[in-house]
Amino acid sequence: LDPEEFRKQGHMIIDFLADYYTNVSNFPVRSQVEPDYLRKHLPDSAPLFPEPIESILEDVQEHIIPGITHWMSPNYYAYFPSSGSVAGFIGEMLSAGLNVVGFNWISSPAATELETIVMDWLGEALKLPQQFLYKGSNKNGGGVLLGTTCEAVLCTLVAARDKKLSQIGRDNIGKLLVYGSDQTHSSFGKAAQIAGIQNIRAIKTKRSNSFTLTANSLLSTIRSDIKNGLIPIYLCATVGTTAIASIDPIMELCDVAKEYGIWVHVDAAYAGSACICPEFRSCIDGVEGANSFSFNAHKWFLTNLACCCLWVKDHNALTKSLATNPEFLRNKASESKQVIDYKDWQITLSRKFNSLKLWLVLRSYGVENLRSFLRNHVNMAKTFEGLVKLDKRFEIFVPRKFSLVCFRVSPSTIIATRSNNNHNNGHDYYGKLVNDGDDYLVNELNKKLLESINKSGKVYMTHGEVEGAFVIRCAIGATLTEEHHVIMAWKLIQEHADSLLASY
Ligand code: PLP
Repeated sequence: LDPEEFRKQGHMIIDFLADYYTNVSNFPVRSQVEPDYLRKHLPDSAPLFPEPIESILEDVQEHIIPGITHWMSPNYYAYFPSSGSVAGFIGEMLSAGLNVVGFNWISSPAATELETIVMDWLGEALKLPQQFLYKGSNKNGGGVLLGTTCEAVLCTLVAARDKKLSQIGRDNIGKLLVYGSDQTHSSFGKAAQIAGIQNIRAIKTKRSNSFTLTANSLLSTIRSDIKNGLIPIYLCATVGTTAIASIDPIMELCDVAKEYGIWVHVDAAYAGSACICPEFRSCIDGVEGANSFSFNAHKWFLTNLACCCLWVKDHNALTKSLATNPEFLRNKASESKQVIDYKDWQITLSRKFNSLKLWLVLRSYGVENLRSFLRNHVNMAKTFEGLVKLDKRFEIFVPRKFSLVCFRVSPSTIIATRSNNNHNNGHDYYGKLVNDGDDYLVNELNKKLLESINKSGKVYMTHGEVEGAFVIRCAIGATLTEEHHVIMAWKLIQEHADSLLASY
């Protein structure tokens, strides 16, 4: 590693990225390439001899950028955006440059200690109960940085599983049962599968309860499952569900779970960051009754990918399941039990110095500016929601939560349009479906609308499905998005709706 060459190439990359950020709004937001496009442009095998950075960067510009979906674009509203930032990038760069592999304390004391401190800072900003903090009175709690929410769920799930199996014997693993709702993220089912749990309940939610998991439905499901000889161990409650950002009532769910000794994990992957704002903190009221809580700083917290923040009340539950102690890792510090070895709180051994990134974000912006950043997006979402409401052809499918607006062309618009265009004569197949109240046509038209706006390359939004209804999601959270982008996005949607409905 030649430091001068590093300096030269490093500057080139920074220049490249600075230009990219300047121009990012000019690219089609969703990549427009066809599958397998890249193979045509790259050689069949790796070069035998070195190539200059200049020609590599040329290829990035020419062949990679067209295949990028521009998550950093101000016109990006898909999934949940990933809000990169200067501090997040600089932190990532520092971490990559130092290249430490801080699996235990001795392998890089600062990496471990900074993580513990930063997770306490962030836990305090979220007003998490003291039991979740490392500096909390009994030292049983603490936070850890993982890659993704899926890892957070898997780690806590195996902790809950092993706790129960140590009481009832490993042969009973087939009886273990975990709970979520039909709105819980798919990573939960995956984590359960990896953990060897076969019984996964996705309890049905209803519109009358804003698509949240209610304590009553949890309780009645638990009772009937227990009657059938199953053993409940874990509940994944969500604050800010993926499709529509609904908020499960943490306090009531924890009360039910406590009665049955069920581990409660609160997955606030997207919305957790908003809880640093006093006006949103009530969304996690009751978290003191949960065993663990996580959110993705790489979603809506100006922290570049990947950075999932997990707090647990009892880290011994994690380490009982996940600790390893091979000879080659033995050292005095670990044996003194005075230090944290984060390898024992997670799946992998090696780990990045991610706390550096989060530390930079917290220091460079400060909690107050981070709040402003979040509120700004929420206000833009309110603007967007207001615009949708003004156009009577559309409906807000569920009230906006945080910075997510879920909307669609309304069923009544579609029926009226078909009727005006003489399609709905009662004999026509599709007309019959509409008359029968079937959602098929409504979904098809909204799918077409979404595809048409995404194909334009001017914005990118994705969909959710709730109770069979296809809804378009406008998730505001990209770092560069400003109000004028949101207004432009709405105009674009109206234009595409105009032409779609005219030819319908
Ligand atoms: N949970 C929720 C509520 C999410 O919205 C998401 C992703 O959008 C996830 C979990 C998955 O997160 P990850 O990709 O970090 O596993």
